[in-house]
Amino acid sequence: MTEDRYSRFRVLEGIGESGLRRLREARVAVVGIGGLGSVSARQLASLGVGSLRIVDRDVVELSNLQRQLLYTDKDIGMPKVEVAMNRLHQINDDVVVEPLALSVTEATADRVVAGITVVIDGLDSFKPRFAINRACVRQKVPYVFAGALSAIGNMTTILPGKTACLECIFSGVTVDQPTCATVGIYPTVLGVIANFQVQEAIRIILGRSPLLANQLLMFDISRFQLDQIPIQAHDACSVCGRDAQISKPVIDSAIEITELCTEETFLVHSNNPVPIDLIRASELLHDHYPIIAQSELGVQIQYGTGVDVSIVGEGNILIKGVKSSENAEAIYHQILYAIKDALIV
Ligand SMILES: [Zn+2]
Repeated sequence: MTEDRYSRFRVLEGIGESGLRRLREARVAVVGIGGLGSVSARQLASLGVGSLRIVDRDVVELSNLQRQLLYTDKDIGMPKVEVAMNRLHQINDDVVVEPLALSVTEATADRVVAGITVVIDGLDSFKPRFAINRACVRQKVPYVFAGALSAIGNMTTILPGKTACLECIFSGVTVDQPTCATVGIYPTVLGVIANFQVQEAIRIILGRSPLLANQLLMFDISRFQLDQIPIQAHDACSVCGRDAQISKPVIDSAIEITELCTEETFLVHSNNPVPIDLIRASELLHDHYPIIAQSELGVQIQYGTGVDVSIVGEGNILIKGVKSSENAEAIYHQILYAIKDALIV
């Protein structure tokens, strides 16, 4: 028996060299690399999945560190996708990591899903999940949904055209309350659910039937109770039903403002993002504000007392320490004006 990085996986029944090759040829998107996504991305990289697309618009915060296992103290203020990419390369340099520092919306979801073998959900709210669900149905990409809050995690595997989609199950869910900032989350439940997601992804990559097709799994770590509820596709579903029309995404406004799970933090992003020369942007901002952190995909400044602003990737502006979306929007416009000479038009 040859010993190498993958030898303990190769010997599993039904894996062998062909199973490893399938993993190597797979392209997995981990959408959101927080509590769930940092566990699943790390596991997928170790396993030897050939290509990982990691998607997140956030920066690393102190309150992330106790459960988001890719990050350390020295990463605070840096874009998650950038830190995660470097860490995943350290874990397994065989893996090609593609970082996408963007907000998942109707305008960007198709790009997130394009060319992907299976999508792993690491998001923390329903609006972007519905956008991913629609893009997955449009492009016929399997989507392993999961969510977790407090001690409970849930999960299902969506095979477009074969199983219920997210809209069939959660249609009409618009408000994401309560969030993990208010009720908390057991890190252990994230570990369990994220590993279940990876296991489903492995099954899909190997050409096996997923275990959670048309099944909603509910796991309560406070009692170690695991349940599965049968679900079914709805004929009248607006996304996957008989008369569904999802050929084109609907984009409602020029900018979107979202209150994040982290307290007093708002994300403002453009639905038509303009690429930003971040080195130039940081020079321009340096004239007016202290720079807290700077890297290839992001820059963070101290905007005022208790208010930090981060620019991440393509025009995502995170504003921390403000009480209202109006305040956040005003700061967004001010920052965009300050860096107008750094916009690549
Ligand atoms: Zn549906």
